[in-house]
Amino acid sequence: MRVLLLGPPGAGKGTQGRRLAERYGISYIASGDLFRSNVSEGTELGLLAKKYMDAGELVPDDVTIRMVMEAIGSAGEGFLLDGFPRTMAQARSLDGELDRAGTPLTAALLLSLDEEIAIKRIAGRRTCERCGAPYNVEFNPPRAEGRCDLCGGTLVQRSDEREDVVRHRLDVYHESTAPLIGYYADRGVLREIDASGSEDEVTASAVAALREEP
Ligand code: AMP
Repeated sequence: MRVLLLGPPGAGKGTQGRRLAERYGISYIASGDLFRSNVSEGTELGLLAKKYMDAGELVPDDVTIRMVMEAIGSAGEGFLLDGFPRTMAQARSLDGELDRAGTPLTAALLLSLDEEIAIKRIAGRRTCERCGAPYNVEFNPPRAEGRCDLCGGTLVQRSDEREDVVRHRLDVYHESTAPLIGYYADRGVLREIDASGSEDEVTASAVAALREEP
């Protein structure tokens, strides 16, 4: 199974992507995670990507495509892509390589969500600096403000999850990524699900959508 996830930031692509990849026994490849690990390892790619990420801008296509194609190359038969492609150039390049290899996409799964909810979900996210436990000030607050329930560590907000940056990321999504919805519909692989429910409800809808014949 070769699947990619589409949808605005905050639709739950990370959570659902990890769950689905585990369920189907396929590799989970998230371009944002690949960039973040380059940033924390201080690689040349990480230094370049950080500038764009902090501003909520897209990292240039050439480096992004190279990085993700390498990950796909070492992923084996099945994979689930989260956060890639985000531009038409990335989509064409991905599909070109997959078609050439005779292993086209199985599905492009669109997670649809009202944008004001998406903004609240992301701008409310906090992560424990010490143990990485995730919180949301609106939907899953810690018992004591700013402190991790598990280890007492300080809760921090990712620099690209501030509300102003999130709004900008949504603009970028509309301009560069939303056109991929029509592109994958034309290729006959688009499946759309409602991402406003609980995590379990959204997973159930995703599994049902992936079971359907295209
Ligand atoms: P994410 O974790 O998917 O929200 O990605 C975090 C940030 O990494 C984005 O806001 C972009 O700056 C960068 N990024 C991730 N994936 C891509 C991509 N496919 N193309 C360009 N930039 C990306």
